[in-house]
Amino acid sequence: MPRYDYRCRACGATFEVSRPMIQASDPASCPEGHDDTVKLLSTVAVTGSGKASAPAPRPSSGGGGGCCGGGCCG
Ligand SMILES: [Zn+2]
Repeated sequence: MPRYDYRCRACGATFEVSRPMIQASDPASCPEGHDDTVKLLSTVAVTGSGKASAPAPRPSSGGGGGCCGGGCCG
């Protein structure tokens, strides 16, 4: 059952309510009994930032210099 975050505008308390999705837009009363509550946007858990930082291939200088220019590499 999804949980929704609400904030009471009367006392400023935030609270969670577990309710079916069909009742997501129903008003919820805060634990203190106030009815002036607003539903907060629940933060959806985003996937981890798996940035694959591929290391830039370093050109390995053969040291010879201009080897492929002469046709010896292929
Ligand atoms: Zn309240």
